[in-house]
Amino acid sequence: MTNLLIMKFGGTSVGSAERMRVAAELTAREAGRRPVAIVVSAMSKITDLLLDTMRHAEGGDRAGMEVNLAALRSRHADACRQLLPEKRHAAVLAGMHEILGEFERIVNGMAMLNERPPRSVDEAVAVGERLSALLLAEHLSVSGTPAAAVNAATVVVTDAMFGNASPLMEPTRARAAAVVAPLMEKGILPVVTGFNGATADGRPTTLGRGGSDFSASILAAALDAAELWIWTDVDGIMSADPRLVPDAQVLEEVTYAEAAELAYAGAKVLHPRTLAPLVEKRIPVWSKNSFAPEKPGTKIVPALGDAEAVGTRAVTSTSKVALLSLEPASAEVNGVQVMARALEALARANVEVLVFSSSSYRQNFCFLVREEELEKSVQALESALALELAHGYVHPIHVNRDVGLLAAVGEGMQGKPGLAARIFTAISRVHVNIIAIAQGSSELTIAVVVRRGGLEKAVQAVHAECGLGLRPPVPVFRFPMERRPE
Ligand code: ADP
Ligand code: ASP
Ligand code: MG
Repeated sequence: MTNLLIMKFGGTSVGSAERMRVAAELTAREAGRRPVAIVVSAMSKITDLLLDTMRHAEGGDRAGMEVNLAALRSRHADACRQLLPEKRHAAVLAGMHEILGEFERIVNGMAMLNERPPRSVDEAVAVGERLSALLLAEHLSVSGTPAAAVNAATVVVTDAMFGNASPLMEPTRARAAAVVAPLMEKGILPVVTGFNGATADGRPTTLGRGGSDFSASILAAALDAAELWIWTDVDGIMSADPRLVPDAQVLEEVTYAEAAELAYAGAKVLHPRTLAPLVEKRIPVWSKNSFAPEKPGTKIVPALGDAEAVGTRAVTSTSKVALLSLEPASAEVNGVQVMARALEALARANVEVLVFSSSSYRQNFCFLVREEELEKSVQALESALALELAHGYVHPIHVNRDVGLLAAVGEGMQGKPGLAARIFTAISRVHVNIIAIAQGSSELTIAVVVRRGGLEKAVQAVHAECGLGLRPPVPVFRFPMERRPE
C-alpha cells in the first residue's frame, strides 16, 4: 500500500467525547487524501483505573472494586451517549458491556484467589484500549468514514514477557497483512488498539506502560507505512518536560537516536522502544499536538543538518529509578568478575540498566534500574552472588531509592569539550549533589544521578545553563575570588 499513514492518538487525545470528535476529524481529513490506519490508547486515566481495580481485587476489597467498576462503566457510557447518535446507543452500549464483562470476570477471579497473575493482568488491562477503539470506530463510521475496531491481540505477535512484551516482527507482518491490510483495501479504516498484543499461541500480552506509541511504530513497520504521526497533548518533543520547565521549547527536528535517548531517560512523550522498529526502514515520525493540530510539531529524522547539531538539545529526567551499588569486600576479590556476573544476572532477568558506573581502586560499581524492576534486580543479584555475599567477599548490596536520573541529550555534544563541566557546574550551583555520572562513548547523552529531591532544580538549572529555553540564558556573574564580598 503506497503512502500509508499511521496515526496514533494518546489518552488525552481520546479522553472524552469532545476529544474523540477532534481525533475523528483529524483522521477523516487525512483519510480523504491517502490510506490511513489509526492506533488508539485507552481514554486518559482509564489504564490506571483498571490496574487499581485489579489491586483492590487482589486484596479482596470488593467495595473498592465496585466503586472503580462503576466509574469505568459510567465514563464510557457517558462518552458513548455524548458522541454517538441515539439510534446507535443500544448496540454500542451492549458491545461495551460485553468487553467490561470480560474485565469483571477476570477481576472476580483475582478477588477469589487473592492473586494477580501477570498474564491475567495483561488480558484485563487491554480492555481500556478495546473500549476506546470501539467508540472511535463507531463515531468515524457514523460520521462518514467507514471504520472498524481491531483488537491488536489479533495483529501484534509478541514474546511471553507479560507486562513488557517485545514484538516478533515476522509473524506480526504476516498478521498485519492478513487482518489490517484487507480492511483498508475494502475502504474500511482500521482503528487498532494500542498497548496490547498476544503470543503466537494466543495468550494476551502488553507492551509496557505508555506502550501505544510502540504499537503504532510496530504497525507502521509491519505495513511499510510512509509516515507515522503521534498525536499527543504537547506541541512536540521539547527541550524539557514543559510541566517541569515552563520555558521549554519545541524542537523542530530530532534524530531517532536523540528521541530514543530522551525516551529511555524518562521523556514520557514517547515510549522508549517506539523508534526501534522504524530506524531500519527510515520511516519518518511526527509528534504533534491534537489540541493545536495546526502547529507543525516535531519531525523525527535519521540525521540533522550541521546547523542544528549544536551541543545539548534537551534535558530529561525520571524519578522512577533506584541505584544499586556493589563492592567487593577486599582487594583480593576480582571486581571485574563480580561486575561481569552481576551484569549477566541482570541481563538474564531482562532488567534494563539505565546507567552503569564504576570507579576507584576498591572496584565498587553501581547500576541504575527502573523502580518497577528493582525487586527482580535485587533478587537476580542476590542469587547470582549468593556465595560471595554469604562468605563476606562482597559487601551487602546497597539500594538507594532516593535518587533521580537527569540526562542531557544532543547529537552535537560529540567532541565538544566543556559541555560536561557546564552541566555539572549548573547542578552544583543549585546545591544538588551528584551521586553518579555516565557518558557513553557515543557522546549523545550525559547521564547524571542525583538525590531525588534535587532532580527538578537540577533539570531547570541545566536547561537554563545550556540556553535551551525561550528566554536567553541568564548570564551568571561571578565575583573574582579576591573581590568576593563579605
Ligand atoms: P499520550 O497520552 O498522548 O501518550 P503522554 O502523557 O504519554 O501522552 O506524553 C505526553 C507528555 O509527555 C506531555 O504532556 C509532557 O508533560 C511529557 N513530556 C516529558 N518530557 C517531554 C519532552 N521532552 N517533550 C514533550 N513532552 C514531554
Ligand atoms: N493505556 C496505556 C497506558 O496508559 C498505553 C498508552 O496509553 O500508551 O499505559
Ligand atoms: Mg504516552
